[in-house]
Amino acid sequence: MSALDIDITLNTGAKIPAVGFGTVCFDEFKSQFKDALKAALLEGHYRHIDTAWYYGTEALIGEVLQELFESGKLKREDIFVTTKVWPSFWKDPLKSLEKSLHDLRLDYVDLFLQHWPLAFEGDENGLPAVPKDAEGNVKFAKGADYLSTWKKMILIYKNTTKTRAIGVSNYTPKMLTRLLKETDVVPATNQVELHPHLPQVELVKFCKEHKIVVEAFSPLGGNGAPNLKIPLVQQLAKKYNVPAVDIIVNYHAQAGRVVLPRSQNVERIKKGFSEVKLTEKELAELDQFGIDHPKRFINDVWGNDLGFEHWGQ
Ligand code: NDP
Repeated sequence: MSALDIDITLNTGAKIPAVGFGTVCFDEFKSQFKDALKAALLEGHYRHIDTAWYYGTEALIGEVLQELFESGKLKREDIFVTTKVWPSFWKDPLKSLEKSLHDLRLDYVDLFLQHWPLAFEGDENGLPAVPKDAEGNVKFAKGADYLSTWKKMILIYKNTTKTRAIGVSNYTPKMLTRLLKETDVVPATNQVELHPHLPQVELVKFCKEHKIVVEAFSPLGGNGAPNLKIPLVQQLAKKYNVPAVDIIVNYHAQAGRVVLPRSQNVERIKKGFSEVKLTEKELAELDQFGIDHPKRFINDVWGNDLGFEHWGQ
């Protein structure tokens, strides 16, 4: 069985495929994006797409999905689609979701996430996505509470058919504690940066206790995939005779976490991932590597005051 066939059960009872296709795409790769996504869905056997309004790829995803649905190569129920509301849309997550659904050419998503526990100033179309003042500082919406967005997402979840589950992203245990105390829906997932350089052991434990599935973003460390060069990852790849990327994917999937690798390289995408049965000791060693050598790759300036562990390291 391929690691791509592993499903994880959300607190809604729905299943989420453990491996999702990351859809951040820089402008220079946009012309290749549709081919990469088609390869992922048809040959890499991905059944899960992780996107967001902010990535600017939803319209391209919508074109591919429509083509594959119309040609009968794929059915809507075959795939799990996640999108996210960006902080500049904090006042109106429904509008953000409707915009995403329009671009994705879908009636519903399987999961709708609050992208960051933040609120930015922005017009009714969420623009500019990252507003800045003359000195280049991010303009946060004054007096805004990130939980107000979550509360509006609960209403969307309860009163519409536009999303089958809701969750959060970039929440710390402290923020989750507040959310659980003040609202009545437990997020289905918390999507955070997570990999052998940043195992976030406490956060993972907290989420497990509260039945919140953890989704690992930037699993390879982002551009250039630095995590594939970690000596322990290389050593395990050699031992199991698989590419290093398979070790990282299995590190998450085996622990019941979703993992969201990104690639625009069709040859890599087509290969998919093999299942590797890492031992408990090896999983613990991978965690220990990050405890000893913490490194966070995504240090976007708007996250400066959120109290993330190892921020800027
Ligand atoms: P990743 O950590 O997945 O790394 C992507 C890089 O790894 C690319 O340079 C890619 O190059 C390279 N790569 C992929 N596979 C291989 C391989 N087999 N061998 C060598 N290099 C490889 O990147 P992201 O930071 O984009 O994270 C993945 C996804 O997580 C995003 O696309 C997004 O969906 C989500 N995310 C969510 C965030 C949030 O705030 N919720 C924040 C950041 C990301 P190539 O294309 O050439 O293969």
